[in-house]
Amino acid sequence: MPERRVLILDDDAGAAEALGFMLESLGAQPRVAQDAEAFFGTIREWSPDIVCLDLVMPRVDGVEVIHRLAEEGFDAGIIISSGVGSRVLDAARRAAVEHGLRVVGTLPKPFALSRLKELLHRSTPHGPSVSSEDSEGREWSDADLRNAVAEQQIRLVYQPKFRCRNREVRGFEALARWHHPEHGIIAPDAFVPALEQAGLMGEMTQQVLREAFCWLDALNRSAARSGDPYTVAVNLSAAALRSADFVEDVWGLCSECGIEPQLITLELTETAAMEDAKQALALLTRLRMKGFHVAIDDFGTGYSSMAQLSRLPFDEIKIDKSFVVPALESRDSQAIIKSTVDLGRSLGLRVVAEGVEDEATLDYLNEIGCDQAQGYLVAAPMPGEEVLDWLRGTSRSR
Ligand code: C2E
Ligand code: CA
Ligand code: CA
Repeated sequence: MPERRVLILDDDAGAAEALGFMLESLGAQPRVAQDAEAFFGTIREWSPDIVCLDLVMPRVDGVEVIHRLAEEGFDAGIIISSGVGSRVLDAARRAAVEHGLRVVGTLPKPFALSRLKELLHRSTPHGPSVSSEDSEGREWSDADLRNAVAEQQIRLVYQPKFRCRNREVRGFEALARWHHPEHGIIAPDAFVPALEQAGLMGEMTQQVLREAFCWLDALNRSAARSGDPYTVAVNLSAAALRSADFVEDVWGLCSECGIEPQLITLELTETAAMEDAKQALALLTRLRMKGFHVAIDDFGTGYSSMAQLSRLPFDEIKIDKSFVVPALESRDSQAIIKSTVDLGRSLGLRVVAEGVEDEATLDYLNEIGCDQAQGYLVAAPMPGEEVLDWLRGTSRSR
């Protein structure tokens, strides 16, 4: 790990010094600022990789500093520390995330070396970088978007979904990446809404489904193993609900690629499902009748009620990563995860947690009875042609 520059903002000189020693012992390079002016000055001249903010300070408090960092478009990692208790720390963390800042995690006082080590480790970037920050606010031209679809510039990467109990891989989620000729690889959050607005989503979905189905068929042929075949999950946007032929189209693509609908999960976000609950009910029922699985995605981030959820024929529920990533440090997140697992189980649904980044979170999920998970702990999304080698590697190491 290259030496990370860590800037500490803390009015308590003793605490800052203690934290500085701990950082040095972990191979980082610390500097201390005792007030906001010195802090912002050092950021400009030293550009730290991480800043460590104390929330409670006499003049300008940590929450104001968070606002200012957001205004200045600060893009390094942030660790929030304080002795005020976990609920307040957690609220400050959420505020920073909502301001678009990159929060590495929270560090309660007194500082624990093991926690600090974990945070430093966590702040190293995972997997191949996908530009979303710099392309998020970009306005795509109609020509760009039309080309994306016409020239099939949107390709898939696949992330394993595994059993919490023993990490056995059950299937993969297909995630779209736009290989833009000038701007490189673009993450879906930066182009899916634009494609939807341009009315191109139907076409993109067809391409994505065809690519995922044919890839799965090839994988299951070459993996040639004795257990159940692998499955694939594809994300649908709200546009799918509005297409009259959607069910026939997916069904047709399945037979074209020679795979059984039972191996396919279609993921629909809670928000899309609730936007038009009547349409969703009809579409999901027809998909289920044909043998497809359907998952409610990003569960917990929308506004569905339990009654609405139980009316719709989903057979899988995916807990959003915004609850899973901070699970270890947020009691509130744990409460949401636990009640979603309980709800899912009592409705007879499979429960999948996304965004599992560490062992302790996986242990927790397993303990409370969550069925499956995905996340960087086991693998980041990878190109289809790498999956077979990856599977061989993991089965050897198990
Ligand atoms: P999603 O369905 O919730 O997908 C999970 C996202 O979490 C993916 O981001 C994935 O790369 C990321 N992720 C996986 N493991 C971890 C982890 O351990 N920690 C963290 N922090 N993140 C993790 P991605 O690929 O950028 O996709 C973003 C969203 O774009 C997806 O969210 C999905 O809603 C949408 N999307 C992706 N592909 C398609 C597509 O083909 N069609 C449609 N309509 N939407 C898509
Ligand atoms: Ca999904
Ligand atoms: Ca999600």
